[in-house]
Amino acid sequence: MSERTEFGPGRPVVLRGGTVLPMDDRRQVLTHTDVLIVDDRIAAVGPDLPVPEGTVVIDATDGIVMPGMIDTHRHMWQTAMRGYGADWTLTQYFVWYYLEHGKLFRPEDVYAGNLLAAIEAVDSGVTTVVDWSHGLQTVDHADAAADALQSVPGRFVLAYGNIQQPPAEWTGTPEFRDFISRRITGDDMFGFQIAFDVTGDPAFPEKAAFEVARELGVAVTTHAGVWGATGDDGIRLMHDHGFMTPETVYVHAASLSADSYHRIAATGGSISVSTESEQSAGQGYPPTWAIRAHDIPVSLSMDTSVWWSGDLFSAMRTTLGADRSREHMQAHAKGDTVTHGSLRAEQVVDWATRGGARALGRDHELGSIEAGKKADVVLIKNEHSPVSFPLLNPFGHVAFQAQRGDVHTVVVNGRVVKHEHRLVDVDLAAARRRIEQTVDHLRSTMGEEAWQKGMNPDIPETTILDNPYTYTDYHSSSTHSQ
Ligand SMILES: [Zn+2]
Repeated sequence: MSERTEFGPGRPVVLRGGTVLPMDDRRQVLTHTDVLIVDDRIAAVGPDLPVPEGTVVIDATDGIVMPGMIDTHRHMWQTAMRGYGADWTLTQYFVWYYLEHGKLFRPEDVYAGNLLAAIEAVDSGVTTVVDWSHGLQTVDHADAAADALQSVPGRFVLAYGNIQQPPAEWTGTPEFRDFISRRITGDDMFGFQIAFDVTGDPAFPEKAAFEVARELGVAVTTHAGVWGATGDDGIRLMHDHGFMTPETVYVHAASLSADSYHRIAATGGSISVSTESEQSAGQGYPPTWAIRAHDIPVSLSMDTSVWWSGDLFSAMRTTLGADRSREHMQAHAKGDTVTHGSLRAEQVVDWATRGGARALGRDHELGSIEAGKKADVVLIKNEHSPVSFPLLNPFGHVAFQAQRGDVHTVVVNGRVVKHEHRLVDVDLAAARRRIEQTVDHLRSTMGEEAWQKGMNPDIPETTILDNPYTYTDYHSSSTHSQ
């Protein structure tokens, strides 16, 4: 019996006997609990549920059942170069993509990157991803991005962007309007945002792009609070012109003043924190400490696999670590000791699920496991892993113990897309062939020297400090002591 037959359309699915993290307002942990999925919805949550005849039973015993994770900012096209920029700074990233080589991506290269990133997301239990797609230098590129996302059974939001042109230009073209009327049909598996950054130029050249977004009724997502690139001036311009709305997603927000955080909080927007990115690239210190103080909603994101993982387990882990590091460091600077940490594991699990749903305005149907909601569900379970037990603190387990290899089953919109650690009906070999062609194209077009140089930036000289306990001349000092 093939997987396709087992999980046929319309066949209900029940996850039996797991530890369920509903991520609802009651902050519950439900042990020995079933989750029944009928069509695209969660039909019931509870112990020993009666199920319709023909229901597929998935044994969730000893596992954790949680909502599908939601990534609110990932440049999926860049997954075609996974790991290439591991040693970059933000400056090197900008030079590589924005100035020197981003234009080399053809539509088929955007397709390849998006396809692999989309498969990777589904495989690791990330059931919704905002594709912050700023490599769309033509509408053909945009069609390729959309085609790739729609070929994978995950939930995606195409955040349309183009780093090669000012946003007022590309959002004003008839081709852009035509793309939207052709491709954005209200399908709840495929949403739409507009993605661009606000430079802070007092002439506010981004105004026309905001007006397009307002006219179309779509959210703007913007890298705001990026050291050396975007900051308080951009926030002030957006606010003064009335473009800060509850739908607006501010990515990073890592180097902003209190005044900017107040403006974000007052207008109801949310911040997408990419801790792995902020720690390495230099946008600013991962800002959850400031966001918590200003009571702004948080979602998590991975930014780009050209540097880091695409794995929200890492996002939860590094976000907890960065927030706690800073709390201890600040206390120590004052001679104090933190006896009770402020940020809890449960909170980062909430940010990775409900936080993302809220940022997308879809928390009424995504981001939690409750009867009537959309069935985007993840089972974390790995019988072959010594890390899978004891399961004492499920939130701590998700944040610090689990990893993507422990994702046993993934359901998106009621469809089982991964089961027993294997993707269902996904052609990974085809994705590999497309990626190989893209890498060959980039590498041969750039030339081997530029390719190697791009991957291996110069290392600044490290100054080794004088150490008073080290004899600089062992022989003479030992002679001296005699
Ligand atoms: Zn980004």
